[in-house]
Amino acid sequence: VVIKAVDILSNHNLKHTGCRVAILDMFCKRKVALSQPDIEAELDKEFDRVTIYRNLSTFLQKGVIHKVPDDANASKYALCDNCDEHEHSDSHVHFKCCVCQTTQCIDHVDIPEVKLPEGFIPEKTSFLIEGTCKSCR
Ligand SMILES: [Zn+2]
Ligand SMILES: [Zn+2]
Ligand SMILES: [Zn+2]
Repeated sequence: VVIKAVDILSNHNLKHTGCRVAILDMFCKRKVALSQPDIEAELDKEFDRVTIYRNLSTFLQKGVIHKVPDDANASKYALCDNCDEHEHSDSHVHFKCCVCQTTQCIDHVDIPEVKLPEGFIPEKTSFLIEGTCKSCR
């Protein structure tokens, strides 16, 4: 199934703008987590930083993309599988390749449940595995 930027926008009742389509297109094509600087590096001739930043915030809020755990300075984002504006459910494992430095969603691998000591209330859990990805092996 080929996911198209315009379909993602329609599914989330978001207006189609050039910048939104361009950003989502990058996510669809690269299939790895992208940071705002990654996106700016490719799109800054067409769109200014503020517009890119605003659209990323909208996407986060509407369940189009989610934050991916990473030890880099800039936050990375990836497309959500099946989220909406009321709830994100991206409790899958993320994998960071130490060779090509990309991070990707391992969509169908759930984060194992961690038993916390009494009195601790978890709100969200992230799980990042580092290693060598399929294409770098
Ligand atoms: Zn999500
Ligand atoms: Zn790699
Ligand atoms: Zn993910």
